[in-house]
Amino acid sequence: MIEFKEYIENLNKRLHNYIPDPATFTPGEEGVFKPLDVYNHPKKEADEYKFKAIKYAFKHHYENNSFYKKYCKENNVTPDDIKSIDDFNKIPLIPDKFFKTYPSGKEFAMWLATIYTGELPNIVIKKSDDHDDIINKFNDAGLVISYSSGTSGRHTFIPRDKRTFNDTEYAIAKAAITMVYPFWEYDSYGYLLMPNPFKTNVFAGKVCSVYFDAVKDVQVALDRELKADLIRAAMKNNLKGRIIRYAMQRENKKMIERIINWLRENYKKKNKISFLGAPFILYFVMEELERNGESFDFGENGAVITGGGWKIFEGQRIPVDEFRKKVEKILGIPPENCLDLYGMVEGNGWMVHCPEGHYLHIPSTYYHAMVIDENGEEVAYGEKGRFAFLDGLAMSYPSFIISGDEVRMYEECPVCHRTSPVLEPEVSRAKGDEMRGCAEEMRRVLSMDLGGKDA
Ligand SMILES: [Zn+2]
Repeated sequence: MIEFKEYIENLNKRLHNYIPDPATFTPGEEGVFKPLDVYNHPKKEADEYKFKAIKYAFKHHYENNSFYKKYCKENNVTPDDIKSIDDFNKIPLIPDKFFKTYPSGKEFAMWLATIYTGELPNIVIKKSDDHDDIINKFNDAGLVISYSSGTSGRHTFIPRDKRTFNDTEYAIAKAAITMVYPFWEYDSYGYLLMPNPFKTNVFAGKVCSVYFDAVKDVQVALDRELKADLIRAAMKNNLKGRIIRYAMQRENKKMIERIINWLRENYKKKNKISFLGAPFILYFVMEELERNGESFDFGENGAVITGGGWKIFEGQRIPVDEFRKKVEKILGIPPENCLDLYGMVEGNGWMVHCPEGHYLHIPSTYYHAMVIDENGEEVAYGEKGRFAFLDGLAMSYPSFIISGDEVRMYEECPVCHRTSPVLEPEVSRAKGDEMRGCAEEMRRVLSMDLGGKDA
């Protein structure tokens, strides 16, 4: 079996385009690129990496983002107040809802400029430009603005610079590849259960473009362009929404067929395969296989990395352990190779299941997670509250966020011996908060056609 060190070195060689010149690493980048395993680095050293990363990011945004500086002043906090990790809870958190409060047209660009740390590139905006048009202009000028949408139809827009985006792409690849050790090799075949990263500004799709560099041959489930306005229109329960959904219906049936044919072909050739993306698509593939009495036995030659939420139909979640059992039964892929990833458009930390216990490990060298009660106070380990985080990687916007996700955090994994804290295996939305997530927006557009129950 390949040594872990060599395994990660192979990854670094493969993803060298994502790694900046080490002489210019920010402290956050040191925490991502230097440790071999960001989930199992010796605790004391991991804390040193983390403290430097977050202190640096806080100071950077305080000094270069007038909106955030004002917010800190209102909260009576300056970078000098952050002397150790114990002071991290003084750093003012931005509610994730804030990133949804955008106007349209020219004012949208002004709004982005407020959030952005530093100077936005100059672009020319036409009156007829929609949000994607404006984003595409900024992205052509060197940014990577992406979004995620919720059931209300409001999007969360996050402006990353190219470097922050490369960092987070590397971080997500390292997260998955670390935990599936020793499975990963470049010479393998992948299926992305997401929109084509090169044709969408949806964050969860876009961030997966690194898959094409980590794996030799990648197919894409949804090759058409997925625009914010289309998602919004398809979600509406009116005639236009129904027409869009109907038009997608045939295409989606074909998508399932394509994936099944791909499975057959790679199984016959004894190729190593992986799936990455929304669980509900693979769920429908497995349902179809089951109906036809067909199954595979990929064994150690297969892996499934899911992300984006566990809703299969409206009002129906599939329990994640049930999903793993189905993957084992229908595809023959063992539970250790079937892991879930949890992250969000606002942050650059990737929580990933350990293969032993399927708890979500939190990277501990550049990212600090907290659980907050309704009064804004941190709760004790094991208690329920809202997931909040300080992200040491984002340089283009202050990524100090309190989310609407409800979690329990534990100082140590109840099952494995890695040094990082964990979240429970499944994350849910807090009561009253709208459902969202990368899989969720696609699911609302697609699964009604695939499963029929939503229609
Ligand atoms: Zn664990």
